[in-house]
Amino acid sequence: MTHSAIDIATPSRTKDIIRKHGFAFKKSLGQNFLIDMNVMRNIVDAAELDTETGALEIGPGIGALTEQLARQAGRVTAVEIDRRLIPILGEVLEPYPNVQVVHGDVLKVDLQALFQEQFTGVERVSVVANLPYYVTTPIMMKLLEEKLPLKNIVVMIQKEVAERMAARPGGKEYGSLSVAVQYYGEPELVCTVPNTVFIPQPNVESAVIRLRVRETPPVQVEDEQRFFEVVQASFAQRRKTLWNNLKARYASLCGTEALEQAISEADIEPSRRGETLSLEEFARLSDAIGRALNKS
Ligand code: SAM
Repeated sequence: MTHSAIDIATPSRTKDIIRKHGFAFKKSLGQNFLIDMNVMRNIVDAAELDTETGALEIGPGIGALTEQLARQAGRVTAVEIDRRLIPILGEVLEPYPNVQVVHGDVLKVDLQALFQEQFTGVERVSVVANLPYYVTTPIMMKLLEEKLPLKNIVVMIQKEVAERMAARPGGKEYGSLSVAVQYYGEPELVCTVPNTVFIPQPNVESAVIRLRVRETPPVQVEDEQRFFEVVQASFAQRRKTLWNNLKARYASLCGTEALEQAISEADIEPSRRGETLSLEEFARLSDAIGRALNKS
């Protein structure tokens, strides 16, 4: 039988590989392997790969998604933290010369250098992954804040986190994660996924989300760092009004009056709650607060 005859993302092939290598899952590393080819196809199709594209995979596991990426993308680089998986990946991915496995913690890897090394000459790069759920947010923020030349990010994550990323102002899911993700990209829910498509099964529901990475942010801000700081401050205590949250963070720095003035300049009602503010409003607010802080 050739390598492509049986996909890894099937219960029988996954169990065979695990048994053959005596692999024991580590819950602490978020190891839930995908064993369903329909979900797999949804993920890979959403990434819109072709031979001119590169794919960065985070957490290849035993290579189920990696082999599908290798068939569609020009180049695939997969970063895996668990040393025990490296020889297994070497064996199952041996038929794919366009795949490079890197052993490391994606949160510590120098991604700029990795991109230089792995994707020079590639037209565009997608991140495609079934993410370890315990580090979803730090991984996403690292990918976005580093401003890597990404086309899109297609990831399987916890459903509740996917909903927070895609949430619009006004609902209880909308928070600083929604603002940050939507500042850098345009999120879309690709599909929801039951926990029966993994071994072992996670305790939470999952979803695939696609984030088209923006070339320029949807709002102009004078100081990006200040923008994210104002967003964080506005959501610090969700039950409090914008005024109470902002006062707690900034009144001692620029004075209560100047803060009041800044919120009014931004044309925002201080009795509102952070969860009702759009990106445009946060942008106006952070610019006005920035000016107040610079004057003080
Ligand atoms: N891609 C495989 C699949 O879909 O079947 C495995 C996905 S599993 C949900 C997550 C993978 O991420 C595991 O292989 C785990 O060892 C790896 N991982 C966990 N933390 C990581 C980190 N900080 N950096 C890189 N890989 C990590």
